[in-house]
Amino acid sequence: MFLTISTSGAVERPATELGFLLHKHPDKAQQFSTSHGTAHVLYPEAGVERCTMALLLEVDPVALVRRGKDKGRGGAPDSALAQYVNDRPYAASSLLAVAIAGVFSSAVKGQCAARPELPGQSRPLRIEVPVLPARGGAALVERLFEPLGWTVTARPVALDERFPEWGDSRYVSLVLEGEHRLMDALRHLYVLLPVLDDAKHYWVTPDEVEKLLRAGEGWLEGHPEQRLITNRYLARRWSLTRDALDRLALARLAEADDTEAEELDNAVDEQEDTAERPLPLAVQRRQAILGVLRRSGAARVLDLGCGQGQLVGELLKDPRFTEIVGVDVSVRALKEASRRLRLDRMTERQAARVALLQGSLAYTDRRLAGYDAAVLSEVIEHLDLPRLPALEYAVFGAARPTTVVVTTPNVEYNVRWETLPAGHVRHGDHRFEWTREEFRAWAGQVAERHGYDVDFAPVGPDDPEVGPPTQMAVFHKNEKYDQSDKNHRNNQNHPDETTKEAKAA
Ligand code: SAH
Repeated sequence: MFLTISTSGAVERPATELGFLLHKHPDKAQQFSTSHGTAHVLYPEAGVERCTMALLLEVDPVALVRRGKDKGRGGAPDSALAQYVNDRPYAASSLLAVAIAGVFSSAVKGQCAARPELPGQSRPLRIEVPVLPARGGAALVERLFEPLGWTVTARPVALDERFPEWGDSRYVSLVLEGEHRLMDALRHLYVLLPVLDDAKHYWVTPDEVEKLLRAGEGWLEGHPEQRLITNRYLARRWSLTRDALDRLALARLAEADDTEAEELDNAVDEQEDTAERPLPLAVQRRQAILGVLRRSGAARVLDLGCGQGQLVGELLKDPRFTEIVGVDVSVRALKEASRRLRLDRMTERQAARVALLQGSLAYTDRRLAGYDAAVLSEVIEHLDLPRLPALEYAVFGAARPTTVVVTTPNVEYNVRWETLPAGHVRHGDHRFEWTREEFRAWAGQVAERHGYDVDFAPVGPDDPEVGPPTQMAVFHKNEKYDQSDKNHRNNQNHPDETTKEAKAA
């Protein structure tokens, strides 16, 4: 596989400065051994007006397979023969990206001891990659490089030039031209070559997120294809992608003002529906909850700890839900919910179906009595454990909806999140996270104390060892209990009130 970088110059800024920038002398042909073969660096031309560096990577497909096996990673997933006979030696894939990072590591970092002023200067560059695998074709190549200021010529390579009727291969011949700092150009290639190849030769681990963010600094934050780039670069491991996107968004937010932040937020929301990946857990959770609510026949629903109102929004889309009340302790969350739901722009009829109330679930609230169903989605873990009995009483003792859906993280699953350090909870504000057994024990006691039946269901992939990422309990009120045991119920006081009443007495 093969790549050339050329620049032009004049006496005062000779093209041969490219040699300083790359830390490779133009008069020498040099070899470097990389983990997958030998990289050759040579200069077919080196003059004041024009200088071209060629990087040729001789890949050893046999070594590649062995390495894959040695590491227990199984090499190529294809047939046995395809492991040895493939495009690796010819096409500019992630191997070339790794070679760029290795052979030109100082240049990528923008270091040049001999001429420290050079890395910061842009110069006219022309990069040629004769055989570039491009999943997504020439059009995607343009969408990736043009926003970075490159003039892109991407010509599809015919499958076989003797038989034009066979059409194009998945390779393009690429020429990039533009005025750039060399380090930026190398970083663009380092990230985008494997993105276009879309088949990493190695297993992607969480430290790839760091590599991506480092190489993407200064250009990936604002790239219109940021999501595709991130997702493909991280081999579609969605948990890693989400981590990287969050951090890119933060990097942008640090500079953006509030309105821009809101637009960005909306854009991310919209993109959520189109990215190439499994449904995010939050979406799966909302779907599971909606399923339960529909099956229960509920029409009047409370969303307790509604946050920014995503579930309220979903409930509004279904006319069977005639009254939807979102409750949260956070005024900020409610403001955001109101903005997202566009409460101020709703028709009167729609607006009559929905209300957002501020209140704490740790206190009995008369406004919440008499509903068909209540949802506590990812809320209980935000309360300190000693406050949980207060919430239990407010919901199951006082409000007493017919159905209650509670979801909470399953802490056992945390070992499956690649980016979560061992022993950490998933969110800084989580006061606790429970195992499946702990959650079942709590829910069982709550049901018992307040006359409900309870069932459990997994949300997200149900791992045979550690269970699902989210656990869900569905409580149904036992009507007989309500009628036959009114006294028992009336005697159950709010844990705080017990002391108050005791004092009053
Ligand atoms: N239900 C939403 C939001 C979960 S985040 C979802 O599933 O995405 C937890 C929410 O609970 C936050 O919005 C937080 O403000 C709210 N919350 C935490 N303690 C609360 C309390 N004591 N009373 C009411 N809401 C509370």
